[in-house]
Amino acid sequence: MKISRDKVVSLHYELRVHGDKQTETSRDGDAVSILHGHGGVIPGLEQALEGRVAGDRFSATIEPAQGYGDYVEQAPKRVPIKHLVRPGKLSVGKSVMVNSNEGRFTGTVVKVGRFNVDLDLNHPLAGKTLDFDIEIVDVRDATTEEIEHGHAHGPGGAHHH
Ligand code: ZN
Repeated sequence: MKISRDKVVSLHYELRVHGDKQTETSRDGDAVSILHGHGGVIPGLEQALEGRVAGDRFSATIEPAQGYGDYVEQAPKRVPIKHLVRPGKLSVGKSVMVNSNEGRFTGTVVKVGRFNVDLDLNHPLAGKTLDFDIEIVDVRDATTEEIEHGHAHGPGGAHHH
């Protein structure tokens, strides 16, 4: 079965920022399940998966425009520490989530004050070229419920039922 819209894809991945040695991988846990064609992954990865079958192993290099977008130079945003979700110990470079009137957003700490933090609101992978190594573990038809929800259920997918 080939990967196309409304298939659920289970895969393992290794991800490196181009030029870095550090690798992020799914291999220490379950394969990741994705409902294909619903924007659950970055556009470049979705394109790279199209038409693949279970057992395929391949590499894909994804430019920022097809990844997390370009890095936008902007003034850091000052946020009260009390608006952070479980801030823990704050330090420069830490990724945090903010509860605000407009919903939740994430940022990277660039400065820690007594009552406020300054956050860089770019995605941590904005402006980065990404090297993926992918192994397709399984491809199946999505259920009606998964298509309605816009994400995969079961191991490696959403667990909210
Ligand atoms: Zn769901």
